[in-house]
Amino acid sequence: MQQKIVGFHLDEESHWVADLECGHKQHVRHDPPWQERPWVVTAEGRASRLGVELNCVRCDEMGEAVARAAIQECKSTLQAAYQDAGLAGLCAEGRFEAAVSALDGMKLVDILRKTRVRP
Ligand SMILES: [Zn+2]
Repeated sequence: MQQKIVGFHLDEESHWVADLECGHKQHVRHDPPWQERPWVVTAEGRASRLGVELNCVRCDEMGEAVARAAIQECKSTLQAAYQDAGLAGLCAEGRFEAAVSALDGMKLVDILRKTRVRP
């Protein structure tokens, strides 16, 4: 996920780290010949990169984790409602409708709480 650079700071080993708008951090080392970012070593260079977007892998990981948790929660909700409707004597069509309706009662905030990924 693309996130804008909102600032920079040095880590404990004096490597430059970009502060992203999402709250995550990303190293932006100038370590030739492996990583060429001469702009990062000057205040002017860093200032020129404010607002530039970097791909935040951490945000991608969080989005993936939330999506997977949502899918799992939907499956559990559907299966439980379908089974309950069957025990209540509903026909297959009624069980299907009851299962789909159960999705409306899902609390999305609970899914986020179950997701253990933190910024
Ligand atoms: Zn992020």
